[in-house]
Amino acid sequence: MDTAFDAVRMKKMYPHLTNAYIGRRLGVGRERIRQIFKTKGLPTKAAKPIHYCLHCNSEIEGRIKVHKGRCHFEYYKKLLTCYGCGKEFYRSRGHIALNERRNQENHFHSVDCYHKNHA
Ligand SMILES: [Zn+2]
Ligand SMILES: [Zn+2]
Repeated sequence: MDTAFDAVRMKKMYPHLTNAYIGRRLGVGRERIRQIFKTKGLPTKAAKPIHYCLHCNSEIEGRIKVHKGRCHFEYYKKLLTCYGCGKEFYRSRGHIALNERRNQENHFHSVDCYHKNHA
């Protein structure tokens, strides 16, 4: 078995794997893996996993799905117009999905408003 060859192949396929992980898979220590990458001119540190913000599609670091702040707010809340009174209001995606499952296509800003228009 060619440890260096396998280590390099793993690194290229999965750049976010740590040296310790690759070493365990190949039955060698992480220091050996680090040396292999060094001699091959590869980065000796695991790449940070990169994902993209679900709202703005730009890069995001860490284990979050959307940027904090504005992206988070706009992604999870949607501006709707009340079907009853025309007032604009924010509603969470979860709530909207629930209404859609109940076939309630028209959104009302409050329960009161809903009842007034279904009397
Ligand atoms: Zn974003
Ligand atoms: Zn309303």
